[in-house]
Amino acid sequence: MRILVCAGTGCVANGSLQVYEALRQKLKEQGLPVKIELAEELWPEPYALNISGCHGFCEMGPLVRIEPEGVFYHHVKINDVAEIVEKHIVGNQLVERLLYHHPASGMAVKTQDEIPFYQKQTRIALEHCGRINPDDINDCLAHDGYQALARAIFEMTPEEVITEVQESGLRGRGGGGFPTGKKWQFARAAQGDKKYIICNGDEGDPGAFMDRSVMEGDPHRVLEGMMIAGYAIGADEGYVYVRAEYPLAVQRLKRAVAEAQLLGLLGQSILGTDFCFKINIKEGAGAFVCGEETALIASIEGERGMPKPRPPFPANKGLWGCPTIINNVETLANLPFILLKGGKLFRRYGTATSPGTKTFALAGQVSHTGLVEIPMGMSLRELVFDIGGGLRDGKQFKAVQIGGPSGGCLTEEHLDLPLDYDALKKAGAMIGSGGLVVMGQDTCMVEVAKFFMNFVQNESCGKCVPCREGTKRMLELLTKITRGLADETDLALLEELALTVQDGSLCGLGKTAPNPVLTTLKYFRHEYEAHVRDKK
Ligand code: SF4
Repeated sequence: MRILVCAGTGCVANGSLQVYEALRQKLKEQGLPVKIELAEELWPEPYALNISGCHGFCEMGPLVRIEPEGVFYHHVKINDVAEIVEKHIVGNQLVERLLYHHPASGMAVKTQDEIPFYQKQTRIALEHCGRINPDDINDCLAHDGYQALARAIFEMTPEEVITEVQESGLRGRGGGGFPTGKKWQFARAAQGDKKYIICNGDEGDPGAFMDRSVMEGDPHRVLEGMMIAGYAIGADEGYVYVRAEYPLAVQRLKRAVAEAQLLGLLGQSILGTDFCFKINIKEGAGAFVCGEETALIASIEGERGMPKPRPPFPANKGLWGCPTIINNVETLANLPFILLKGGKLFRRYGTATSPGTKTFALAGQVSHTGLVEIPMGMSLRELVFDIGGGLRDGKQFKAVQIGGPSGGCLTEEHLDLPLDYDALKKAGAMIGSGGLVVMGQDTCMVEVAKFFMNFVQNESCGKCVPCREGTKRMLELLTKITRGLADETDLALLEELALTVQDGSLCGLGKTAPNPVLTTLKYFRHEYEAHVRDKK
């Protein structure tokens, strides 16, 4: 039997580490032969107590999962620990009051996989999040960790690795959706003795925490993905660029690098091959624009994080002038599956043009907030209502903001839209990195547009005029509208400015900044007009 206490940021904030400590004490008092901290597979004792990464159902934390059945207890407090140990661990009976109860029938649900929040999910990037101890490389190894890397370096040429990734159809999960294998091909072909892999963990969208959860919950998967990418393009060094505001992710990544070094996976040639890879952890200082590739590179080089015009593209001339691949955390976390199980199997999930799965951070007025991973192409309706449980407090669905400040607002008429790169682009939105905020009938969509405009205006690096001045003027206009001081000409000006900023900005931040305004103007123009009509 294995007891896993969620130690993702959400559960930790709710007191899960105190629950873990109380469990440890109680198990000790009971005199049970418990092994703390190491993987059950590697230990002969019949009980193991571990921390784990995020399970995704963050609003229900602290969460405790008991294996092998996968019994799932939620909202566990220190006071519940004695009952869990005495009744479940010793007495082999369920603590029913801590189980999830189905909202319609009131029936208790025993295991994690039977809970509606999880039933429609498919986990690839999050495969081991919540199932392994992120602080223990042995646990990772016991769950096939670094097996995909072994397959790559012992059984495949770098070109074959790239072909496998191309066959999978994997596209960049950071927002752009560029085919990963194609990007690698450019870097493989680029001339240079020194090449780099950068893992982009600079997740800064309001409401997004997908990459954070992967880095905190399964850091070795991210390192393994980087090493596979390094082998494929011929790089021997990598950087994880992670926000300093994610201290737990930084701590777990640093520990994972140290563990991998001790095992000889990093910093030296691996078992007679000439593949040798080194990974550095670079903490970013919280500038949203540093998620942009050229700004991120400048930040690692010690410069101010400001975007540069492209070409040259980083695949040809990136970090310190060397060919560099920048992949987002989730993109890298898909690679072990693709290399181990094959690109063809990966393609069985998702749609023809957007294969695989996508993680989303469900937030806002939805009943079940948290981290989810679904096959691409699932409808917005299934995500919001079947997984998210619909809206809280009986509210009516009004809209979702998808893709953070770069994304757009979608309405009730889009509920059956398949969530993939192309369908969302057609609707004027984008998957972005995967933030999804659900809004009910009483949300003012002009206020929503103003919130995101305020965010991008603050985060604009100021290098180019359309973005620096345009976002400021758009925010002024939105403020004027919400204060009831605007007239029809202000609406026309807002739209014209939005299109100018979209066309004229240098980088993705500015080019996508008007999306929330343009989509709300398109789908909720009557709300803007109502503000104008109610002019003071
Ligand atoms: Fe900076 Fe905005 Fe121009 Fe990007 S678009 S370079 S963030 S001013």
